[in-house]
Amino acid sequence: MINVKEIGKDIRDKVERIPNKRDERVCGRIVDSGDGIIHISGIHDAKYNELLEVKGGYRALTLNLQEDSVGAVLFSGEDKVRYGDIVYSTGETVQMPVGEELIGRIVDPLGEPLDGLAQIKTDQTRPVEFPAPSIMDRGKVNKPLQTGILAIDSMIPIGRGQRELIIGDRQTGKTAIAIDTILNQKGEDVICIYVSIGQKASSLAKIVQTLRNAGAMEYTCIVSSTADDAVPLQYIAPYSGCALAEYFMYQGKDVLIVYDDLSKHAVAYRTMSLLLKRPAGREAYPGDVFYLHSRLLERAAKLSAEKGGGSITALPIVETLAGDISAYIPTNVISITDGQIYLESELFNSGVRPAVNVGLSVSRVGGSAQRAAIRQISGQLRVNLAQYRELAIFMQFGSDLDSETQKTLSRGAKMTDTLKQRQYLNYTVKEMIILLTVAQSDLADKIPEKKMSAFNEGLLDYMHTNSTQLLEEIDPDQKLSEVVRSKILSVAEEYINCSVGGDSGQQAETEA
Ligand code: ATP
Ligand code: MG
Repeated sequence: MINVKEIGKDIRDKVERIPNKRDERVCGRIVDSGDGIIHISGIHDAKYNELLEVKGGYRALTLNLQEDSVGAVLFSGEDKVRYGDIVYSTGETVQMPVGEELIGRIVDPLGEPLDGLAQIKTDQTRPVEFPAPSIMDRGKVNKPLQTGILAIDSMIPIGRGQRELIIGDRQTGKTAIAIDTILNQKGEDVICIYVSIGQKASSLAKIVQTLRNAGAMEYTCIVSSTADDAVPLQYIAPYSGCALAEYFMYQGKDVLIVYDDLSKHAVAYRTMSLLLKRPAGREAYPGDVFYLHSRLLERAAKLSAEKGGGSITALPIVETLAGDISAYIPTNVISITDGQIYLESELFNSGVRPAVNVGLSVSRVGGSAQRAAIRQISGQLRVNLAQYRELAIFMQFGSDLDSETQKTLSRGAKMTDTLKQRQYLNYTVKEMIILLTVAQSDLADKIPEKKMSAFNEGLLDYMHTNSTQLLEEIDPDQKLSEVVRSKILSVAEEYINCSVGGDSGQQAETEA
């Protein structure tokens, strides 16, 4: 017998057990997909830079808001996403997890760990895109950010809150300057963030190793998007790094952030724009490529005392082709930043390392933050070096030299040698004061040419063992008194007498 009641009850039970959950998120469907770009129809209230969730757990970022569809770029799952897949809008822009927990870690631009360690446990996030501090919120750059590199700290000083571009051809030591600066922040209470954009994974591995070995990871976070990461990840990497930097800056801390490099960032943006069929302009970059970098670099600032006085110092890196600084991206970034350190292949190959071209390098705000003693003794340096260079080029044609010219040439050569500096060898401010004082004094004439580097190294060692008292007396924040100056010179003379004349002269020769 068929029991209608029982069957009815069964059906009712089953229907009740069907989960009554409706996904109320706004969703649409993919109408076009290819090369990591998707177009979605049905999402009407999408925002610019909103995070979308694609079926399968992939994420995408909206970039083109059109009347009938939304264009977005995929962070992952390029080859898994298909026509017709459902896409949910999240209503949120991209967020970066922030907090002390990120220090010492290597993360991708969305905050996922890449160092094989535990997931990052932080409940705080910041939007990847954020408005720059207003004029009223900014303070004056008045504290130096010591790079430990003599040529830079003496002639192109960088202040906390400044944006200083490092520009040069490939393999001219751009990254080396940035890494040396990070290493020099040990014990300086500066948090460092190194953003790697589109670099080879092997180059990044080397950098990580260097930072680890020097104990610099204790105050550094690395935000990485390597060359084989999806283009949108390379695109948001600097903004993610900046969001993390802002978190610390608004707490009143000092942050140093390195963007290595913005040329690759611009190329990533160009790729996305062309795939999104945006109109191409000069060098095929889209029209808003200036805004791409200006909105990023404007976020670096020195906050006023009322706002906590924190700072973000930015060191963007730009690669040039054959030294052409008038190309599109270099001119853009030069005009946005507060100065540039221009590195030259010719100098680099002729052994002048760091290969800073002093004539074309400038720092527009750091001078006021420079330590008093360094400012005093390096005042004439730039002019003297320029004079030397000019003379040296002229003298290549060969002619009889009077003794005055000879002296200028030899002094200039010795000064150039003094400014040469090995990688990872950072000078303290006091060491810089000693080197600059000696190299610019009459004593320099007593040091044989080509032995200047070895002499400097020896002198510093000698001072550290024999004149600790004098080192105490040097105060970098005061003008160098005549008494201290003559003490430095007399120790240097003592060292010249016992080294250049004696057996360590031979040692210097072999070292040279
Ligand atoms: P890329 O264009 O590939 O990013 P880069 O301009 O960042 O190159 P680096 O990688 O920093 O250049 O340096 C290139 C090479 O020069 C490295 O092998 C580095 O060890 C060496 N180098 C950099 N600075 C110095 C220096 N001051 N003294 C000696 N060698 C240096
Ligand atoms: Mg590099």
